[in-house]
Amino acid sequence: MDSDSFISAAQSAVDILENSSSLHSARSNVHDHCRTRQSDEPSHDMHGRCIYYCKYCSWAKSVTTNFRNHLRTKHAVTCIVENDVTEDVRMLQKLYQQLKQANETSTFDEKILQQAIDRDTFKQCLIDLVIVRSLSLSILTWPEFHMLCKALNPGSIASIPISHQTMRNWI
Ligand SMILES: [Zn+2]
Repeated sequence: MDSDSFISAAQSAVDILENSSSLHSARSNVHDHCRTRQSDEPSHDMHGRCIYYCKYCSWAKSVTTNFRNHLRTKHAVTCIVENDVTEDVRMLQKLYQQLKQANETSTFDEKILQQAIDRDTFKQCLIDLVIVRSLSLSILTWPEFHMLCKALNPGSIASIPISHQTMRNWI
């Protein structure tokens, strides 16, 4: 997965996590109803697909849909169909935890923070602030202004123009 795809998937993940974190505990998937296979049982079928072993009976099947149908008809268990995004979220959470343990999330975090900035809105708000409050056009060069922006979003510094001329051009 290239960097842009990773960031895009991460943003989807963040949206989903923010909107549905309370749903996870209520979810049930086929893996919750599988037993651990015995050492003499195959882990994959002849097509290389993972085999699911029912923990309520001796049934086993390699296709998730068939296993889900089995749970519904034989054990009255309804499993939700997890879509690709849910799987992506799970994968991203796992990868992010790995990065966190290695203390290597800074590059990833910085990209997310930078992408969270609405540059057009920032520009318009700053123009309004300067005009309405009669602030200096040199505001973009103020270290205090940079510190304020950094406090709100640590990834913002790279996105803020620091030229004295920029504000003049904007207004
Ligand atoms: Zn069963």
